[in-house]
Amino acid sequence: MSFDKKEECGLFGIFGDDEAVQKTYFGLHSLQHRGQESAGIASSNGDVIQCYTGMGMVRRVFRRGSGLLSKLANPTAIGHVRYSTTGSSRACNSQPFLTEYSRGQVAVAHNGNLINASLLRDEYEAYGSIFKSTSDTEIITHLIAKPTHISKPDPLGHVLNHLQGAYCLLFLFADRIEAARDPYGVRPLCIGQTQNGSYVVASETCAFDAIKAEFIREVEPGEIVTLDKNGLSSRFFVKGGTVTPSHCTFEHIYFAKQSSTIFGENVHEFRKKLGRQLAKEHPAEADLVIPVPDSGMSAAIGFSEQSKLPFDMGLIRSHYVGRTFISPGQDLRQFEVKLKLTVVKEVVDGKRVVVVDDSIVRGTTIRGKIRALREAGAKEIHMRVSCPPLRHPCFYGVDFPTKEELLANNRNLEQIKEFLEADSIGYTSLEGLLSCASLPAEHYCTACWSGKYRIPVDIALNKFAMEHYQLQMFEDWPETNE
Ligand code: SF4
Repeated sequence: MSFDKKEECGLFGIFGDDEAVQKTYFGLHSLQHRGQESAGIASSNGDVIQCYTGMGMVRRVFRRGSGLLSKLANPTAIGHVRYSTTGSSRACNSQPFLTEYSRGQVAVAHNGNLINASLLRDEYEAYGSIFKSTSDTEIITHLIAKPTHISKPDPLGHVLNHLQGAYCLLFLFADRIEAARDPYGVRPLCIGQTQNGSYVVASETCAFDAIKAEFIREVEPGEIVTLDKNGLSSRFFVKGGTVTPSHCTFEHIYFAKQSSTIFGENVHEFRKKLGRQLAKEHPAEADLVIPVPDSGMSAAIGFSEQSKLPFDMGLIRSHYVGRTFISPGQDLRQFEVKLKLTVVKEVVDGKRVVVVDDSIVRGTTIRGKIRALREAGAKEIHMRVSCPPLRHPCFYGVDFPTKEELLANNRNLEQIKEFLEADSIGYTSLEGLLSCASLPAEHYCTACWSGKYRIPVDIALNKFAMEHYQLQMFEDWPETNE
């Protein structure tokens, strides 16, 4: 695991269930790996929507004894865990966003990144709209409230056609949930059903496992799925027909939980295939294979299977430290990394070790671990990475650093090896990566390796494109996430 890349958000929604809010809480818990900065739940009793959001992890925001889950207890709910990709880490940006317009209340939860957010906001501000956050999600509520949009036959579908970029969205209206996925299906969004028949939606199927719900299918790219008293219904909003999907390959490589099934495939199995492919492309003369836990684990198992080298745990992860790459600030992340990964001297001393990681972003973290392994007596260290070298930023909801900060930017393999102080280096090729996937190669986004952006982007855009708005509000930012 590289600790200097961050992911986006997690969504959960459930309609018409006696334990909707409790199940949303558990669903968000299981999606915590998708964001630790803030969490929130909005619920509806059929007439009125209530909402509570706060900074920190789910367990902290809805802490035991607070009575918050009881206060929110209604039969329909949506929830959100957040890492900021557009709009900074502030309480005002936590979701769901609850607002009221001429047709009543609506709460919105978003996973992804709107490329045209800044443009839309400028447009609305020019006509007098007032914003209370710096997040791209709030713009959607203004689009929903616009009188010329309300008058359309399908106002929500009309609004979604104004958005550019990657988005999975949950809308909680008083009487229903609408779940939408962008036309390219960049981020995952799944539909399930509980044992008592309630429909649920979530970013990953691991949230269904948490509440014993069964996975039915994914929300299709360009589809809006409605959960209401009539059950589940569907419509497509894309003007001019469907496009070839562009699923985020990085969801499979790193973001999603190993137990989840996304884009039609189990994440753990996909990562094992990547590890086998890596071993075929870059075998090593070594004594054992160790993973960088946790996300390098499945690929290391695959590498070990293919190479017939024994698998062992040379690095141990402390589970009492949060998912560190999500912590804002490099200093804090570095400190957390030291706390989090410990070398097992007895495993690596005197050995030639293959270290398998899912990806490398800046490279400073893994270099520190390579040094620590050598100090613990490792004779040789062969670094193997289960995806190609990252060379380009992501504009679709993943907060990689700038191009200049990426280790593989302007460095060849020899220079990368020297930087990492490894004895050898090997990355899975892009062709090898795509050969492991079950869908056709053209159905995946590979922009962070290839630089080919399927959804057109303004290269000048960055995470803080919205920050010139500089909203200052009082915030209860916790010192720790616990
Ligand atoms: S650029 Fe990379 S991280 Fe971003 S959506 Fe595409 S594959 Fe995923």
